Amino acid sequence: MKTIGIIGGMSYESSMHYYERINKQINEKLGDLNCAKLLIYNVNFQDIRKRMLAGKWEEIGIILKEIAKTLENAGADAIVIATNTIHKVADIIESSINVPLIHIADAVSLKCHEKDATNVLLLGTKYTMQEDFIINRLKKNGINAIVPKERDDIDLIDKVIFDELCKGEIIEESKKAYINIINRMIGEEHIEGVILGCTEIEMLIKDGDVNVPLFDTTQAHIDTIVDYALKK
Ligand code: GLU
Repeated sequence: MKTIGIIGGMSYESSMHYYERINKQINEKLGDLNCAKLLIYNVNFQDIRKRMLAGKWEEIGIILKEIAKTLENAGADAIVIATNTIHKVADIIESSINVPLIHIADAVSLKCHEKDATNVLLLGTKYTMQEDFIINRLKKNGINAIVPKERDDIDLIDKVIFDELCKGEIIEESKKAYINIINRMIGEEHIEGVILGCTEIEMLIKDGDVNVPLFDTTQAHIDTIVDYALKK
């Protein structure tokens, strides 16, 4: 079995899901006392968040590429960034390691293709929705991502992620607001599914909350990681 190096803590709420489900899924496949071989480097998210807010992405790239190298030197056979937003510095990380980076957008693209959904709504942080690091990767994989048009919608989705979900708070009003945005977008655009493009959104929006399939980046990433770990 391969060892997976996870850069986590962004937020620890979603990293817990990675830890729990990667182990559980490997145990389900191999049985007995089998579980995953993981190296987890949990960052203090506050240190990263304050640099995000100050636009210091170069510093974030430097910090995280050093962590990726540490994980590789400790024996990781692949590196995972357990968040969508931090894939903004995925190229910097990828070019500083000699093992593969398992990209979250590639993982979710596979799930979209499985359901023939190539025109999808993408929800995530402001960075994920307004910049092109995830959108272009999806496009390269044949997935056309549409994002909410209204500034207020983008602000609300982002605020709920950082002020509530990353702190483990699930608030009914916020769930309703997300569902309203999704339904409005379904009414305006040809949308075949919704990418939950932030690793905490699955805590708020579940299958059946809306009338189109959901493509959860957390679970998609976990499935790809498990396949990779068990690949011969
Ligand atoms: N975990 C979130 C994501 O998947 C947001 C927190 C972060 O900025 O990393 O984008």
